[in-house]
Amino acid sequence: MARIVQKFGGTSVADMTRIKAVAVTVKRELDAGNQVAVVLSAMAGVTDQLVGYAAQTGSVFDAREYDVVVSTGEQVTVGLLALCLQNLGVTARSWLGWQVPISTDGVHGKARIKAIEAKELRRRMATGEVPVVAGFQGFGPDNRITTLGRGGSDTSAVALAAALEADRCDIYTDVEGVYTCDPRIVAKARKIDKITYEEMLELASLGAKVLQTRSVVLAMRMGVRLHVRSSYSDVPGTLVVDEDEIVEHEMVSGIAYSRDEAKITLVKVRDKPGVAAAIFGPLADASINVDMIVQNVSADGKATDITFTVPRGELKRTVETLEAKRKQLGYADLISDANVAKISVIGVGMRSHAGVAQRMFKTLGEKGINIQVISTSEIKVSVLVAEEYTELALRALHSAYGLDSE
Ligand code: ADP
Ligand code: ASP
Ligand code: MG
Repeated sequence: MARIVQKFGGTSVADMTRIKAVAVTVKRELDAGNQVAVVLSAMAGVTDQLVGYAAQTGSVFDAREYDVVVSTGEQVTVGLLALCLQNLGVTARSWLGWQVPISTDGVHGKARIKAIEAKELRRRMATGEVPVVAGFQGFGPDNRITTLGRGGSDTSAVALAAALEADRCDIYTDVEGVYTCDPRIVAKARKIDKITYEEMLELASLGAKVLQTRSVVLAMRMGVRLHVRSSYSDVPGTLVVDEDEIVEHEMVSGIAYSRDEAKITLVKVRDKPGVAAAIFGPLADASINVDMIVQNVSADGKATDITFTVPRGELKRTVETLEAKRKQLGYADLISDANVAKISVIGVGMRSHAGVAQRMFKTLGEKGINIQVISTSEIKVSVLVAEEYTELALRALHSAYGLDSE
């Protein structure tokens, strides 16, 4: 007997036919003698629609009310699945975040889970009951509803698995597992049987939205075994595991992309101590996350250009923040570009293979794709390119690293 958390994403609960199919999948696991808790997302597209409604209300933005609105999609699906399970003869009930309870910090819109009280759920699971828990939500220190950031029900599932001391956390989604690249863009992408937490973390944080980044961090920290698999078929998916469980490492295991990027260049910034702090300090104060940065030494020892990227949704605020400081920073011009994409190749095998970056630059060069910014870490190389080359770059790199399926 195993204790399992099963999480189903938006497309897996997109309509009544799909929800009934989920009920059958849950019952199968129960019939095999396991204890099961379920975590659900809202129906595909519903959260986007709710975010859209909130955006139309006007210029006043109260993130606490935003959370009240956007968390409702999950209330619908958990109730419907509990009903479908009951119709199959399974004892089941729905649980909203505050009912479990799942407590979070007070950062509305991207709250972090602080604690999950799982004793009552565990007691009920031992009797064969199935808790159906709303993903993406919790409640904050002031008892108001919070949400965990887009894609957050993955994190709800992993946190619940940790709290329940579950043997496994199965993430059911609309693809068969984690692929070498987004299978919707690269048709030759291959399913990965086993991937390390570390690589999965890079893939997720560099744009592969198959798992929310925080869910991977949490799984790694709490030792939760993740299995990403299809809700449409029963084929084995991808296991996320410790590095020592993988014998042979590919040089590159995956390629990710993100269109959520914007580039800013400050022209002719004074080249003297303290300038970088003067530029990035105010951005940090405004909670704007700066990602890639390039700065060269100045030829004349007086002025240099500095280029960096921020999330596309923060471009306007970034420009406003820097323009407000223009006199103090003393730059000659500010150029911004929202039509950029970040392409990243990832693999723990990079630690022992030389030439990964070189192959990336050569491949992009041969396709006539200009590299605007480069950044590297121990297990990844990222480049910024014009957004229109995203697909071309991904497919060319996928072939160049020998990742294409036959
Ligand atoms: P869910 O609603 O089940 O949470 P998501 O849409 O959040 O599903 O995540 C699944 C999607 O992630 C897939 O449909 C796929 O297009 C995308 N994706 C991006 N990169 C990858 C990758 N490397 N492997 C698998 N899927 C990926
Ligand atoms: N429904 C939420 C979203 O669309 C959470 C999730 O699907 O993981 O972001
Ligand atoms: Mg998701």
